[in-house]
Amino acid sequence: MQTPQYQARDRAHHLHPFTDFKALGEEGSRVVTHAEGVYIHDSEGHRILDGMAGLWCVNLGYGRRELVEAATAQLEQLPYYNTFFKTTHPPALKLAEKLCELAPAHVNHVFFTGSGSEANDTVLRMVRRYWALKGRPGKRWIIGRENGYHGSTVAGMSLGGMAPMHDQGGPCVPEIAHVAQPYWFGEGRGRELSPEAFGRQCAAALEDKILELGEENVAAFIAEPVQGAGGAIMPPASYWPAVKEVLAKYDILLVADEVICGFGRLGEWFGSQHFSLEPDLMPIAKGLSSGYLPIGGVLVGDRVADTLIDEGGEFFHGFTYSGHPTCAAVALRNLELLEAEGVVDRVREDLGPYLARRWAELAEHPIVGEARSLGLMGALELVADKAAGTRFDKSLSAGNLCRDLCFEAGLVMRSVGDTMIISPPLVITHEEIDELVRLARQALDETARRLSEHVVTGTAPREEIRA
Ligand SMILES: *Cc1c(COP(=O)(O)O)cnc(C)c1O
Repeated sequence: MQTPQYQARDRAHHLHPFTDFKALGEEGSRVVTHAEGVYIHDSEGHRILDGMAGLWCVNLGYGRRELVEAATAQLEQLPYYNTFFKTTHPPALKLAEKLCELAPAHVNHVFFTGSGSEANDTVLRMVRRYWALKGRPGKRWIIGRENGYHGSTVAGMSLGGMAPMHDQGGPCVPEIAHVAQPYWFGEGRGRELSPEAFGRQCAAALEDKILELGEENVAAFIAEPVQGAGGAIMPPASYWPAVKEVLAKYDILLVADEVICGFGRLGEWFGSQHFSLEPDLMPIAKGLSSGYLPIGGVLVGDRVADTLIDEGGEFFHGFTYSGHPTCAAVALRNLELLEAEGVVDRVREDLGPYLARRWAELAEHPIVGEARSLGLMGALELVADKAAGTRFDKSLSAGNLCRDLCFEAGLVMRSVGDTMIISPPLVITHEEIDELVRLARQALDETARRLSEHVVTGTAPREEIRA
């Protein structure tokens, strides 16, 4: 039996991201050994349906030979070279070209990074640089949203609105503010606002913040088209049109963080397209390579790119691994496969609607207050009293309990507080969606049973927030 040995070695030397180290040490890590299609396998011999596509990234599913071959061929040809000092290489230029072909028409440039967090660090510097070049150096404030997630570097966590992250290792980067998130179930419902009225109110809060800071001081607004790590939060239909109006009124750049929504998750190449947004900047990562190798970037619209190119001089920014050839080759192959196999269209026309129908059935469950989905992203809101819509007592950690019971049932479903979320690989089949829903229901039944007995999970809930 290898598991206890793996766990002991892991505990001895490995500090995990977003983890209560002590609690995990006591509990022991789950050791994932291999994966195929939409399933991961652990060292205990369990096969588990990966309802999260790793961390929202394995869009093409596991075990794709083509991606392995793309990596191998590039490693043999040119494993690494940088793109500093006036050099380039075929994988980086081809990937840039492909991305701009897929992106909305006004987006024709990309700046490569190693991750989504680095992409948002790049956003922060690029946005401020843009306004300085425009002769408006006062425009420095960036407005993000409470409970938004933009990564875990210092700029990423500052742009994000995760209070527990701000509380650790601050202060945050100055001149960043946050406004209300369009989370109707969590924050609008209790105030008896319709989703549409609530969506407009959130947009009005953005306008209030701009006026408070002074429009001459506000550079950009950053938001995920659909909040991922915050809890798969689909905004009311009124939200984005109203936000667009506000941004246009005050000449403020829009940064749409596409790290999760990009590459088919919502049934379009970019989540912005689903909401008819025309962002000036789009940070990308995760699904860009289906997670096979780390790579990210910022898609830069003409307005900002033309200024940086024509008036900018040297931009003192970049990473050793910006446009890494092997990562770029895998990302390019990944995009070609998504396109050739019609994956994005299938999510929009077939898989998304199918999941929506099956997922909605879970809304009938006694401890589910809302079931929502868009494309292949979904959430369930756990409630103690369905009629009143009240939440479970926090001390019960209902979400973590449900998450652990999902694992036991053979399903990865993540919890964000008492919101259960899924984001499966985009190559999932109808039968696998049926299985996902069946396993989720089984875990919900068991969660309800345990909570009714007040037998809380035997394992300490991990301090798992986001990512
Ligand atoms: C995951 C995520 C990031 C950070 O990406 P990393 O690759 O983990 O640095 C940024 N923005 C969003 C919306 C994300 O979901």
